[in-house]
Amino acid sequence: MSEIIKTEAIVLSKMNYGDTSNILSVYTKDYGKLSVIIKGARSPRSKSGFIADPPNHVQIVIYKKDTRDLQVLSSIDLISYFPHMKEDIDRLKYSFAIIELVKKLTPENETNLRLFNGLSRILSLIDSSDEMPGILFGRFFLFFLKEIGYELQLKKCASCERSDLTEENLGYNFDIGILCSNCSIKNRVDFKLSQELFNYLLCLNSNKSADIFKEFTLDKAIIFMERYLKFHIPDFNGIQAFQAIK
Ligand SMILES: [Zn+2]
Repeated sequence: MSEIIKTEAIVLSKMNYGDTSNILSVYTKDYGKLSVIIKGARSPRSKSGFIADPPNHVQIVIYKKDTRDLQVLSSIDLISYFPHMKEDIDRLKYSFAIIELVKKLTPENETNLRLFNGLSRILSLIDSSDEMPGILFGRFFLFFLKEIGYELQLKKCASCERSDLTEENLGYNFDIGILCSNCSIKNRVDFKLSQELFNYLLCLNSNKSADIFKEFTLDKAIIFMERYLKFHIPDFNGIQAFQAIK
């Protein structure tokens, strides 16, 4: 038995299948990540063509069968195609990095409404907010780590539990968390966090304005989170969206 369902989704990827079809990976509001096939999508009369491009926000109707890995799409309508980001290589790069993280690191068929809302909101912000896309990406990355079960531990030193850490250089041990300058000497440090980098991460976490930080710090924060993810998920090979454009 299959049921007909209607849900919102963000298109994570699209690839050709056979002579005329497309297979999409989508992150849906009600069912988490799904793979769907659009039969005949590439035939001349089909209207689904650009509507199904990543990272569009769409509404889809599918014939859903739980025993099937690939669901069949019945219709697709556009909610937003984020027009501004498509004219700006920087915004586009970070948007693709976001959908890549979601595609690679979330399980299929697992609903997470918070993640769906966070995903659609961050794409809207990258499209139209004045905040630098690199900062918006940093905020999403921190949030995403938490949602997939690898929240960064930034509140207090994981060894001595001291919590006033904003005025010194720190270390991060990927197994136990942040280390104060003293405890960094006695414990394994996987990543050195300068005072500036730590304060930037706190800003990202609390949603405070992060305009004062150097671009170097924005990039360093992303490298730090990437390295941390690779440590916990050995199959994760880094964010390809950045490597393709560099
Ligand atoms: Zn300490």
